[in-house]
Amino acid sequence: MFSSKESFKRAFIDKLESMLGKPVEEASDIDKYKALGAMIREYINKNWIATNTRYVENQEKQMYYFSMEFLLGKLLESNLINLGVRDLCEESLCELGIELSRLEAQEPDAGLGNGGLGRLAACFLDSLASLSLPGHGCGIRYKYGLFEQKIVDGYQVELPEYWLKEGNVWEIRRSDLAVEVRFGGEVRFEDHGGHWTFVHEKYESVLAVPYDVPVIGYRNKTVNTLRLWSAEPNIRDFDFQTLNSRDYHKVLDYKRSVESISEFLYPDDSFYEGKVLRLKQQYFFVSAGLQSIVRSYKKTQQSLRNFHHKVAIHINDTHPVLAIPELMRILMDEEGMGWEEAWHITVNTISYTNHTTLSEALEKWSIDIFQPLFPRIYMIVHEINERFCHALWEKYPGDWKRIHQMAIVADGQVKMAHLAVVGSHSVNGVAKIHTDILKQREMKHFYEVYPYKFNNKTNGITHRRWLIKANPALAGLITEAIGDKWVTDPSRLIELRGFADDAAFKQQLYAIKQQNKARLADLVREKTGTEIDPQSIFDVQVKRLHAYKRQILNVIHIMDLYDRLRANPDLAVMPRTFIFGAKAAPGYQLAKSVIKLINTLADVINRDPVIQNKLKVVFLENYRVSLAEKIIPAADVSEQISTASKEASGTGNMKFMMNGAVTIGTLDGANVEMHEEVGDDNMFLFGLTADEVIAYYTNGKYRAKDIYHGDIRIRGALQKFTGDFFGAGYGLFNDIYYSLLSTNDEFFVLKDFASYVQAQQRIDAAFRDRECWSKMSLINIAQSGVFSSDRTIVEYADDIWELDPVKIE
Ligand SMILES: *Cc1c(COP(=O)(O)O)cnc(C)c1O
Repeated sequence: MFSSKESFKRAFIDKLESMLGKPVEEASDIDKYKALGAMIREYINKNWIATNTRYVENQEKQMYYFSMEFLLGKLLESNLINLGVRDLCEESLCELGIELSRLEAQEPDAGLGNGGLGRLAACFLDSLASLSLPGHGCGIRYKYGLFEQKIVDGYQVELPEYWLKEGNVWEIRRSDLAVEVRFGGEVRFEDHGGHWTFVHEKYESVLAVPYDVPVIGYRNKTVNTLRLWSAEPNIRDFDFQTLNSRDYHKVLDYKRSVESISEFLYPDDSFYEGKVLRLKQQYFFVSAGLQSIVRSYKKTQQSLRNFHHKVAIHINDTHPVLAIPELMRILMDEEGMGWEEAWHITVNTISYTNHTTLSEALEKWSIDIFQPLFPRIYMIVHEINERFCHALWEKYPGDWKRIHQMAIVADGQVKMAHLAVVGSHSVNGVAKIHTDILKQREMKHFYEVYPYKFNNKTNGITHRRWLIKANPALAGLITEAIGDKWVTDPSRLIELRGFADDAAFKQQLYAIKQQNKARLADLVREKTGTEIDPQSIFDVQVKRLHAYKRQILNVIHIMDLYDRLRANPDLAVMPRTFIFGAKAAPGYQLAKSVIKLINTLADVINRDPVIQNKLKVVFLENYRVSLAEKIIPAADVSEQISTASKEASGTGNMKFMMNGAVTIGTLDGANVEMHEEVGDDNMFLFGLTADEVIAYYTNGKYRAKDIYHGDIRIRGALQKFTGDFFGAGYGLFNDIYYSLLSTNDEFFVLKDFASYVQAQQRIDAAFRDRECWSKMSLINIAQSGVFSSDRTIVEYADDIWELDPVKIE
């Protein structure tokens, strides 16, 4: 069906008709989108089966990426690109009078994630398949993705994101592969002549039903699987014949309670909330995933002794850490293995990525919640802890304090990160500086015990989505210049450096950026009614709203600039458009205030004739993957301004760099490695270093109030938070004021302000020289190859998973 335009058109019409039962002329865009999706699914089916057969028959080692979140975005176009049929499809549809982009617009984002962590998982799946690696995803099929954000009167309003309302063309329900997951109940011992077994009784039984989504590699024949689990009532457990009416209500309650397990994605970006349902979700998908992996492994007739040679399981943060005790349970209770052997296999199967050093983001669960939910799992965790503490006692006799600090179960809590380190063979950070901080500070004690486990894997992004799909014009220009080898080997982007002094090339680069900016300006007009000028600097900060990401630093700079312009409308500044996009966790009041602040400021500034359009502020609502794909290619300046030491890596920073934006940033996360790539001349650094921040935390010598009193610009801005906010109201932002002064500015916003303003002034000067700016832009693109997730995944495959490519014929 994808061999020629004629056969495509015929197949498309056939599909549409057979799905619709009405004439093609009556088909809506959503009908057409569904028909095209179904065609692709059918088209790849042979390769999907071939991939699975090949993996099983050759007993290839396989990796399963366990993640609470997969922030996939839309799949139609990226699937077409990976299949190599995008142009054929677009041209054929065009001949039928159909615009492919309109069909793409019908697809809802699969928003099964909060931010960077979930998007990373999605980029990894794309790279795994594209590199012909046998690696799959395992997660939850949330009925509702992350909330849809509306801005009403400047405030964030959250609406449920029912992304499945039109069905999901990419998934296949596999009820034949459902497994049972058990919650609660009691555990009884049985003595079989000195051999103990554990019998789990009176539990709540939940049916886990998998929905499989194909993950299509780039122009190879690999189709891996993302398996998302849905919770359903296990009605086999009920005898409907004997139900009386009271029981009937019990059944409904049970149904409600079970279905709630896979209903909502919890907002949880660098902030941990002890929601019981979330803990149930964690065990639910981990148990279901492991049971199905063990079952398919056993079908290959291999001995479980070799399990870790054939299966690698990666846990994305601590959310899936119950994979450790659950695999122990399966190996011991169901397969009859002894502790030592089960432990050896478990540790060597599992590897763990740490995503944060923020203490408010570390998962800890009260035993009072944990034990009743998973009585047998708790016993195993308890035993792991006993054995671990015993080993620590041998190593550090008498050092109670250290042992207490390192324990997995202590102070009435289960410490998930400790369990992850002890129960896995590899612990990785996500950027060099982050891994160093883990080793030297946050996990210092663990590093001392297990130095061999710790390693770094700097994050990456898939250049297929974030460059080829999001910015086709730029991708085309690159191919014109250096050929197309960079597409499968992004390190070759470096060859663009040969054009650094080619004025004609830089002119083309500039023209593409202008086109992208004009398109974004249209979108901004459509969504917000605000006119923005594509000639102005597009200065963008899009990411989750969090105090450590310091959107407020950006805002205070804008307020200061605005004040200066009001005082002197002829001030020689380059016109700028500040663009924001951010969701705030619904319970995070301070973050929500910052959203209101940005919108209020935008209202004031955009309507002020005095400043002659030299300054505009835009907040685009409902930031998500598909919106990121429109914003990022249009950015001139990328704001990566977290407090040094706080952003583990960042991946937004890499997307901007690859699209030719120049970064203003701190030496934090992957910014450090971006700086190593492009040097001082092609990046605008400012602010405290991580060492300086950490020193302040240790010595307690930072005084936000001193800065406040010493800097009239900061005083001016902060007084507007509690006083009159540009005529928009009084005391609107007291909470922001207090976070900066009363609690001594935990994230050093005031401390870094002066240096940030200076960096902004350097940007203002640099942007005036178009040729010079285009050169910076070019060098950023040229050096971005290392931030492709293909590089990251090769490192994981070689160093952690010991996974080899398997070519599908
Ligand atoms: C890449 C991405 C993120 C992560 O951005 P950071 O700047 O690294 O925090 C968050 N949300 C979406 C939709 C993304 O595409």
